[in-house]
Amino acid sequence: MSDCIFCKIVAGDLPSKKVYEDDQILAFHDIQPASPIHVLIIPKKHIASLAEAGDEDWVLIGHIQGAAAQIARELEVEQSGYRVVTNIGANAGQIVHHLHYHLMAGARLSPLGV
Ligand code: C5P
Repeated sequence: MSDCIFCKIVAGDLPSKKVYEDDQILAFHDIQPASPIHVLIIPKKHIASLAEAGDEDWVLIGHIQGAAAQIARELEVEQSGYRVVTNIGANAGQIVHHLHYHLMAGARLSPLGV
């Protein structure tokens, strides 16, 4: 999608601090980290949010979850704990409308809620 900031990162038109990449997904450090470790994991395919994913996307989304666990292992936060979360829509605070999973770690995270 030409006006999508994450598609531009995937295309290399915008810079990112890459953590992991393969033919289907990209992981990079969040530009405004909300925790000491804050990585975003995205599909290279443009999917607006989890709510927009189709049946053909579940394997890809499972791959993102697996990559999250692998990245957490490599960043050595597996033992201390980490959070993987995706925001969907306005009430959840989704700002970028390209599916992304936040991997957050490095400190005691606040409870989920309002
Ligand atoms: O889930 P939500 O849409 O709110 O999160 C978007 C995230 O993308 C934010 O944490 C923001 O800092 C990050 N971002 C980024 N690089 C950009 C634009 C946004 O890491 N160029």
